Amino acid sequence: MKDDPKGTSARDVLARDRRHVWHPFTQHGLGETPTVISRAKAASLFDADGREILDLISSWWTCTHGHSHPKLNAALAAQAARFEHVMFAGFTHEPAVALAERVTALLPADLTRAFYSDDGSTSVEVALKIVYQYWVNLGQTRRSLLVAFDGGYHGDTLGAMSLGRGSEMFGAFSDLMFKVCVLPFPGTFEGDEAVEAREAEALSAFEALPREHPQEIAALIIEPLLQGAGGMRVCRPSFLKRLADAAQGAGVLLILDEVATGFGRTGTLFAHEQAGVVPDLICLSKGLTAGYMPLAMTVAREAVFEAFLGDSFDRALPHGHSFTANPLACSVALVSLDLFDEEQTMAQIARIEVRHREMLAELAAREDVTRPRVLGSILAFDVEGLGAYQSAESRRLRDWYLAHGLNVRPLGETLYLMPPYCITDDELTRAYAGLVEGLDSIRP
Ligand code: PMP
Repeated sequence: MKDDPKGTSARDVLARDRRHVWHPFTQHGLGETPTVISRAKAASLFDADGREILDLISSWWTCTHGHSHPKLNAALAAQAARFEHVMFAGFTHEPAVALAERVTALLPADLTRAFYSDDGSTSVEVALKIVYQYWVNLGQTRRSLLVAFDGGYHGDTLGAMSLGRGSEMFGAFSDLMFKVCVLPFPGTFEGDEAVEAREAEALSAFEALPREHPQEIAALIIEPLLQGAGGMRVCRPSFLKRLADAAQGAGVLLILDEVATGFGRTGTLFAHEQAGVVPDLICLSKGLTAGYMPLAMTVAREAVFEAFLGDSFDRALPHGHSFTANPLACSVALVSLDLFDEEQTMAQIARIEVRHREMLAELAAREDVTRPRVLGSILAFDVEGLGAYQSAESRRLRDWYLAHGLNVRPLGETLYLMPPYCITDDELTRAYAGLVEGLDSIRP
């Protein structure tokens, strides 16, 4: 086997995988065979036979600067040689402090306190617990109601699932979920003529809530500008701004879930910059470590942090994980931030956006494509007939792309590209051609 230094055959790995591994978001009963990856470089994965697969969804949207980047590899090795991990209550370390300084400096003025956790879901759980306890600590114990959006996805732990109940992914757990007010999301696209009416509907639905539930709403959570797993649905920055003003005007805390949108995805370092919105809490993960290590941050305004101060543990935030602020992850994240300057990453994202927009025109002319949209490094559109998440049709198309060397995974009826920022122009050309060929392959 070409690409495996250990000489283990792909067939052997798969046989062992089949016996002992339970994969995420996977129906094992379908007997599908996962692809064994043995190497990755820049925008490409290589399977055990050395076959190249363009990673057009950045390995679940995490990989920003490309796979196996020499500077990120070096950061990891250097930190491992110093120390690999230490508990984060009663101890601290320079990489975690430096990363908190760097990230808070990139955020609007008083978002100054970074709470570390491990992945997007836990960053949302932390935000939830913070807003809930914030009001308890202030003596407003009735403020426990959360507001979220239809089609939103915030993770798969229990609290995050409750917030994402509008995504209809988690039906089996509905009895375990807490109550959430779900607002309609005014998703828009190129040539959308009804967007203003949908935005007005969403805003008035929000504005009615404080009247219906006086002094009961703790917080509003939204994925700013882009609902990711809900189908790459975009909203306009002006809507986000009006919503944020309405929430904060009503004394409701605003949580921005930038787990997917953070670190350049939407064309600015953070999506909220495009709307000029300053949230009370912001959730970050995925691109934080360039996809290298599980790490997340929930960053809070200083005034939120201050509500937890006191002389007893009762007012403190009872949350933390074994691997909180893992030094390996923090060290990689610091070098990832350096790379944004060194590699002119925002200019690379702008280049990708220009290419996506050119492709958008071609896609929009097709009869089988609806609701085309581009936001920064993301190109998305809908294809009628693809069916629900993981439908047989969408799995067939996913497999077609994989067989043609492209990692493209439909989200329900939505097809999208979200490549690593290092993807070259030639690779983009190859991706677009393959995307269209795949669409042709499923035409009746
Ligand atoms: N929030 C958003 C906006 C996400 O897109 C995701 C994951 N797709 C999550 C939270 C959950 O992140 P994780 O899968 O790392 O727990």
